[in-house]
Amino acid sequence: MSTKRQTVAVHAGSRLTGSQSLPVVPPIHVSAVSYFEDSDTLDGALDGKDYVYSRISAPNAALLEEAVAALEGAEACVAYASGMAALRAVFEAQGLRAGDTVVMAADGYGVTRSLYKSLAARAGVRLEALLLTDPTTPERLRALQPRLVLAESVTNPLLRVPDLRALSRVCREVGAALAVDATFPSPYGQRACELGADYALQSTTKWLNGHSDALGGTVSGRREKVEPLRAARLFHGDVLGPFEAWLTLRGIRTLPVRMKAHCEHAAHVARRLSESPHVARVHYPGLATHPDHAVARELLEGGFGGMVAFDIQGADRPECFRFLEAVKVARPGPSLGDVGTLVMHAASASARRMTPEERQAAGIGESLIRVSVGLEDPDDIADDLIAAVAEAVTR
Ligand code: PLP
Repeated sequence: MSTKRQTVAVHAGSRLTGSQSLPVVPPIHVSAVSYFEDSDTLDGALDGKDYVYSRISAPNAALLEEAVAALEGAEACVAYASGMAALRAVFEAQGLRAGDTVVMAADGYGVTRSLYKSLAARAGVRLEALLLTDPTTPERLRALQPRLVLAESVTNPLLRVPDLRALSRVCREVGAALAVDATFPSPYGQRACELGADYALQSTTKWLNGHSDALGGTVSGRREKVEPLRAARLFHGDVLGPFEAWLTLRGIRTLPVRMKAHCEHAAHVARRLSESPHVARVHYPGLATHPDHAVARELLEGGFGGMVAFDIQGADRPECFRFLEAVKVARPGPSLGDVGTLVMHAASASARRMTPEERQAAGIGESLIRVSVGLEDPDDIADDLIAAVAEAVTR
């Protein structure tokens, strides 16, 4: 190697030498480009047989994909820069044509609704939003004959739990692909593919990462379903960066212990909130009063999830905003899955981009607060929420 400064500056320190060590934690591979000493290997790498360019495939994203596929009980997984990118990829992979029909949950994440409306409008696809927990769903699907059904299990923000087994049976019957955004339970609480979904989606930004420090999304399923998505990602370029993949994988290492505690704390908080005179209704699938409690008992594992929603008695937006300002342990962050408790006013945040009519049809009222229950002491969380509700309605 030359000792000239310009060459040294470019090449020195590129490779570790003389080490046999095996790191306990994978290194962060920031190199977007790799090279090979023989051209045949480079040629194969350009076909995806090795890592050569991180838009084709990249080591940290591949390790994350391996972990998420294993957690989902799926053959394969493909990772994206965000949950929204994953949702878009599934729509685009269906080869939909003008006149085809897509069905989606009417009571799911508002931004997903906006995304699918815009994708469907551009493709000339008919988009039907249904309450997939409604008993009329099978007959509606038979009448609509959709090519794709996008469910949310558990729904954001009302925590409805569709019967995925029944839904997948009717999807198979009508020839529709079933995609399930299972971000709320995470693969700890539900493995959507094992219940019949063709695609299990995660916004890894939430429980899988667990620490609110990286966006990301994944789609898992059978290899024949996932590989076309991987091929399309190469053109679209919406890949997950190495640092984000690394942080998400680190979060996954503690997913089961975190989720066990999140579920226990959420059940406790739901019970305590039910006792508050200022809370009109608590939405938690673990409560016997929840409309999908029986389905949740059957289809959710390890508890009923870390999310709770509730309606403040007689509240409108100003009272809810006062609640957000009154919490002291929880923080008013418009996300979920963090180690700390996050609270959100659903109508102005997760459902912000839905029309008032869409919110009404979904059952999302102005008094609805969503809570991502954290790992703080569960009584501290409950005391904080109950005191903040009282302050919001009596101030
Ligand atoms: N799916 C659900 C259920 C969500 O709640 C969200 C975000 O809040 C997303 C998808 C989008 O994920 P991301 O923010 O990672 O794009």
